Amino acid sequence: MNRYPQFCPQPPHKGGAAPSTKSKEDHENSSSRWDFGTKAVHAGIFPDPSTGAIMTPIFQTSTYVQEYPGQHKGYAYARGKNPTRSQLESALAALENAQHGLCFSSGMGAIDAVIKRLRPGDEVICGDDLYGGSYRLFMRLYEPMGMVFHFVDLSDEGAVKSCLNEKTKMIWTETPTNPLMKVADIRALSMIAKAHGVMLAVDNTFASPYLQNPLDLGADLVMHSATKYLGGHSDVVMGFLATNNSALHEELAFILNSSGANPGPMDCYLVLRGIKTLHLRMKAHCENGRKVAYFLQQHPGVSKVYWPGFPEHPGHAIAQAQMKDFGGMISFELKSDQEEVAMRMASYTKVFALAESLGGVESLIGHPASMTHASIPRPQRLASGVSDTLLRLSVGIEGADDLIMDLDQAIRRALGL
Ligand SMILES: *Cc1c(COP(=O)(O)O)cnc(C)c1O
Repeated sequence: MNRYPQFCPQPPHKGGAAPSTKSKEDHENSSSRWDFGTKAVHAGIFPDPSTGAIMTPIFQTSTYVQEYPGQHKGYAYARGKNPTRSQLESALAALENAQHGLCFSSGMGAIDAVIKRLRPGDEVICGDDLYGGSYRLFMRLYEPMGMVFHFVDLSDEGAVKSCLNEKTKMIWTETPTNPLMKVADIRALSMIAKAHGVMLAVDNTFASPYLQNPLDLGADLVMHSATKYLGGHSDVVMGFLATNNSALHEELAFILNSSGANPGPMDCYLVLRGIKTLHLRMKAHCENGRKVAYFLQQHPGVSKVYWPGFPEHPGHAIAQAQMKDFGGMISFELKSDQEEVAMRMASYTKVFALAESLGGVESLIGHPASMTHASIPRPQRLASGVSDTLLRLSVGIEGADDLIMDLDQAIRRALGL
């Protein structure tokens, strides 16, 4: 019996004609019907044709030998293409039900490639509580070059429509947002975008492809910081873009090769390894997230908890419709208006590590005002609701009781309860 899964090339017969093997197309056709877990382990990946290695080798090479000038096996120079990266790109594209995927050296490298398509005078409508790094890229690098960015509450369709004009080229959204867990209706935004001939791009980092697939909901482009849930182990920085629009893909691939924000093969290997457990990790993040959110909600030292899983969350119904579950990202406020108290609480946790980033197996706590969102000017930050006292959790996959006890002791100590 063949011990390989069906889609793997069969070992060569001794003598005789080579048996028919499943084609790449067969594989892709069946993989689109697979359960997410099967996709996470198998989709887009083939055993190495030269050796049969089941895990994608790390092709640590900068160039490829050509048989004759211009005649090569599809790989000429590793900024443009690398086989480890190609496998990761097809694996990640499969997770987003996309035809095309591109990996970048960081999430910001991926976003930069998208914004580089714009020309002076072009306008973008974006969410008003964007990732701090995206805000910095838009306002400090691209606005001085003449691109115009409107920051609006994307859960308010009227606000979006009032910013649309003939110069609008793109709507850029995150959902749930960072750090306030606002929920944008991807399908509704895609209808507005299509009606006005503008592109809808979704930064899907917080949800991960396990929870939400924006292209299926009408988005034109989906972006990930693979540094977070896709990598999942806080050991790599990487970005990813996926689309079903071949012309857009070609343009982005041209920018990637021209600008050089390509990831190295070792990093691609780490993310290939990471995504094999994405579904298991996400289930654990969601389960722990739910327990921590309800624990915080009833805590005497906590005044407000932001988590889209609460039925009273304004975006709950949309989140329920467009996401598989509610994730492990939670923000909250203590019953104290002093920034000092919030900062101290964040330093008192023992299981939650005080650090930027999110989406790893380990739980993290952060103070957005001084950490992830420090690059947004304070008035702008306060206007979007990110107060000086807000705390953000990336709930990991540890034992939920240990996480809850840790938060409890830190909150009580900071507030003197
Ligand atoms: C981290 C993050 C980014 C930036 O990605 P890097 O990999 O750090 O460059 C963009 N968007 C969101 C929502 C993020 O959390």
